[in-house]
Amino acid sequence: MKILIYAEHREGQLRKITYENISLARTLGQPFEVLVVGNEVQDIQEQLGRYGAEQVVFYKNAQLENYSADGYARIVAEAVKERQADVLLMGATSTGKDLGPRVASILNAAMATDCIHVEMEGDNLKLIRPMYAGKVQATIRLTSAVKVVTVRPNVYQASEAPVTAKVDTKEVSAPDFKTVVKEIVSGAKGKLDVTEANIIVSGGRGMKGPENWHLIEDLAQLLGAATGASRAAVDAGWRPHDEQVGQTGKTVSPSLYIAVGISGAIQHLAGMSSSKYIVAINKDPDAPIFKLADYGIVADLFDVVPRMIEELKAGN
Ligand SMILES: Cc1cc2nc3c(=O)[nH]c(=O)nc-3n(C[C@H](O)[C@H](O)[C@H](O)COP(=O)(O)OP(=O)(O)OC[C@H]3O[C@@H](n4cnc5c(N)ncnc54)[C@H](O)[C@@H]3O)c2cc1C
Repeated sequence: MKILIYAEHREGQLRKITYENISLARTLGQPFEVLVVGNEVQDIQEQLGRYGAEQVVFYKNAQLENYSADGYARIVAEAVKERQADVLLMGATSTGKDLGPRVASILNAAMATDCIHVEMEGDNLKLIRPMYAGKVQATIRLTSAVKVVTVRPNVYQASEAPVTAKVDTKEVSAPDFKTVVKEIVSGAKGKLDVTEANIIVSGGRGMKGPENWHLIEDLAQLLGAATGASRAAVDAGWRPHDEQVGQTGKTVSPSLYIAVGISGAIQHLAGMSSSKYIVAINKDPDAPIFKLADYGIVADLFDVVPRMIEELKAGN
């Protein structure tokens, strides 16, 4: 069973999910290659080789500089056919969610999205994915010839296993793209994305307003964390949508998730329940978040968070 791993990149930089998927593929004991689609992508050989990719194929064209759904889908589908891959493995990221189904549709492939467990079972893959906002976990076996699988970021650790990667570059002719993305203007450059963060400090309606968000930001900065938010905070216009965690926001799996003034509605839990450790700060002892939390602090956040910041600043 041959696996083709889609290498995700943004602004010329490979994304962490690519290394996670390579590390996962190594454990499956099947031949795999890494597919890069783009134009200028930095350090392909060095970075992909570091995580154990021996064979890399780079489908290159100036028009592929930025991700665009229809163009990338056609090129990735072409690559799956040319490389005679049985499985296309990608991240359950915003790009993976957009690209995966399009490629699956072109290839008439079955697809499993947002998998949190991937293993070999005989000569097929056994996949586990949460369903119904995380209430159940489904075990899936795809029976089509070609399979498309997306894996939740941060579930598998990116582990180094250095090899010398062989990179075959192919200049592809640009199909007649319906859309070409000319420029991406990023809202907050350098901001750590919640889906890639190892630690997240998230705030909810309990924060009372945007003027108090410096507490979330200060705590996050001291912990090297990304900042997240509940939908209530986003809908109120206190935080940008790219920080929203949950069913209609992003799905995250950090090592540590600190929920500050968040009640723990099922739609919020759907996006963060696979975090390794959850700490909840809430003044209501009956808040549903405490059912899931590993550590709970029942207190007023305006007392607790400044004290945490002070302690961290003092190096405790
Ligand atoms: C279709 C659908 C999709 C949705 N998608 C999402 C989603 O993606 N993400 C999401 O988050 N929600 C989502 N929601 C909304 C969800 O149902 C909740 O309304 C939302 O998560 C509530 O946000 P919250 O916990 O910040 O606010 P609240 O539920 O109002 O909770 C605020 C909490 O703060 C605590 N608090 C208040 N003051 C303090 C204080 N001083 N100190 C300590 N604690 C304090 C309160 O005790 C309370 O528990 C969705 C809803 C629907 C219907």
